[in-house]
Amino acid sequence: MMVIVGTSTYLRYQSTFQGKCPCCDVNNTNLELQLYCDYTHLTLIPLFPVKRHGSIHCTACNTPIAYEDLSQDCKAFVDAIAQKKRRFPIWTFTGSLAILLSLSILIKYWYVKSHTDYPLEQLQKGDVVFYETKNGYYSSFKILERNGPVFKVVHNDYIQNTFFDLDDLNEPANYRKQKETLTLSDLNTMETKGFIEGIEKSKLNSF
Ligand SMILES: [Zn+2]
Repeated sequence: MMVIVGTSTYLRYQSTFQGKCPCCDVNNTNLELQLYCDYTHLTLIPLFPVKRHGSIHCTACNTPIAYEDLSQDCKAFVDAIAQKKRRFPIWTFTGSLAILLSLSILIKYWYVKSHTDYPLEQLQKGDVVFYETKNGYYSSFKILERNGPVFKVVHNDYIQNTFFDLDDLNEPANYRKQKETLTLSDLNTMETKGFIEGIEKSKLNSF
């Protein structure tokens, strides 16, 4: 498929107001204000907006009217609308949002892959496991003891809503006193479901 990069213009607002047309020479004729935005696109997918612009014309004779030729009242009216309608339509960002989303998924995939290369079978006392909770938050637990496939762990009391800077969670004071039991099979299930985000190997038995 050929990808075409270009810009398009979209009429995002129009309304009429009363004003003077220099051509019709009538004081209270209907003038139409049209506000546009230009946006770039890749084939048919809008990437991001680039420019706002507008035009005014007389609805009776179709003559374009320069902003400078409007009366003070009309200028104030047009300014107020232009100010209120400054926001670009959200759909003009579709392509950029899709690119950002794909990038963040790729980064997360890379992050998870590079942090879980340490096999769960080799987990030992003092290692810290960072994981995603069922609600989409992130926390950690620390391994206190290992007896074959059975681990005694302490859970972190803190959760955060981003998978970046998970290491910040790993403060000794954050961990509960109460021990819990997890098996290697529990951990393997978590990993299969993609809940394990990373492992920090113990620097000796520091805990
Ligand atoms: Zn006119």
